[in-house]
Amino acid sequence: MKTQIQNCTLQLVQGDLTNQKIDAIVNAANSSLAGGGGVDGAIHRAGGPSIMEETDARYPDGCETGNAVISSAGNLPCKFVIHTVGPVWQGGIRREPELLKSAYHNSLQLAVDHQCESVAFPAISAGVYGYPMDLAAAHALMSVAEFLREHEAPKLVRFVLFDSGAYGAFSHALENVAKIV
Ligand code: ADP
Repeated sequence: MKTQIQNCTLQLVQGDLTNQKIDAIVNAANSSLAGGGGVDGAIHRAGGPSIMEETDARYPDGCETGNAVISSAGNLPCKFVIHTVGPVWQGGIRREPELLKSAYHNSLQLAVDHQCESVAFPAISAGVYGYPMDLAAAHALMSVAEFLREHEAPKLVRFVLFDSGAYGAFSHALENVAKIV
């Protein structure tokens, strides 16, 4: 499923983020950049140890919630890994939507700064961090749509959803976003 926003194709696929042949993939990291389970674990397993060696050296203080940092991609078939930290869901009253939006915006800005024409995201915060999937989908797509309305690049933003539940939630949210952009 896809839609066009300004010059960019916004695409949803079901699959594995670590297989994507694309300029940059975005990692749903934790603030210490210490690796973990979920998509973070999959990226470091598939990419090899050079990614964490680089983030340890370049970002010894880690990354705050809502921010993003960038590294090379080791053995992965992309050029860069952008590590961002989404919020832990605490009921929605601890600025979670604002922090999630910031994670998407800062990731996309880093991609633009590094001349990436294509970027792939997972459903940030919607796993261990507990953000309800339907809200994670709506907030993710609104955030990306807002960025794309204000920037020329990238040309492709792809969401790689791991299972059919996530794909369904994002598809539903994209129908709603497409009506208002
Ligand atoms: P967070 O800690 O930000 O919640 P998780 O990695 O726990 O991050 O989960 C974020 C989303 O990524 C979840 O929907 C999870 O199912 C999904 N996910 C896990 N592994 C992969 C993968 N290899 N490719 C794409 N998505 C994945």
